[in-house]
Amino acid sequence: MKAVVVNPESTGVVIEEKVLRPLKTGEALVEVEYCGVCHTDLHVAHGDFGQVPGRVLGHEGIGIVKEVAPDVQSLKVGDRVSIAWFFEGCGTCEYCTTGRETLCRTVKNAGYSVDGGMAEQCIVTADYAVKVPDGLDPAQASSITCAGVTTYKAIKEAKVEPGQWVVLYGAGGLGNLAVQYAKKVFNAHVIAVDINNDKLALAKEVGADIVINGLEVEDVPGHKWGSSLSCRNCCV
Ligand SMILES: [Zn+2]
Ligand SMILES: [Zn+2]
Repeated sequence: MKAVVVNPESTGVVIEEKVLRPLKTGEALVEVEYCGVCHTDLHVAHGDFGQVPGRVLGHEGIGIVKEVAPDVQSLKVGDRVSIAWFFEGCGTCEYCTTGRETLCRTVKNAGYSVDGGMAEQCIVTADYAVKVPDGLDPAQASSITCAGVTTYKAIKEAKVEPGQWVVLYGAGGLGNLAVQYAKKVFNAHVIAVDINNDKLALAKEVGADIVINGLEVEDVPGHKWGSSLSCRNCCV
């Protein structure tokens, strides 16, 4: 099968023919339908987190289960699942048992510490492969596996209550999903702030109650527009 792997020099990627190993206990084989590209993939490809030549990239994968190991009970052939950055935790440590599993000391991350979804097929740990509804567009589903869970967790941790106002700075890829979660899941009133009117228009379209262009309105609190940490750099 073809796969997008980190090149030997860890300076980019190459497309390679790979043969997958047989399934081990608890694993499932997924035929990948779609995989998004995240900025983290670029970091991994360039060795920014440590060099991983030969690693298959991709943590925004969506696919169909083609085979399961004999002991697997959580998935069956034909299920649609995701291949996410949080690929597997130990399941028993204090982080895993308190909803902070991404901090697990033995966490595995798809497309970084284990092979990911930018391939025709991918092996997943069945108990950690989240099911994806059949009718959901794979392009939309893929971004939920990374940008979506990131913003969902942020709003959840902020303990936003229905009817409260929440301000979201940056309405790019993640911010746009944050607007939708805040509005449609947490039932909050949403203010979206950005410096690009096209992104603000989209934020409005998906549910923001108020949109503000930080370059056009003075004294938008909490963000230094134009500084090195502004949304010019992080929310494109
Ligand atoms: Zn990502
Ligand atoms: Zn753990």
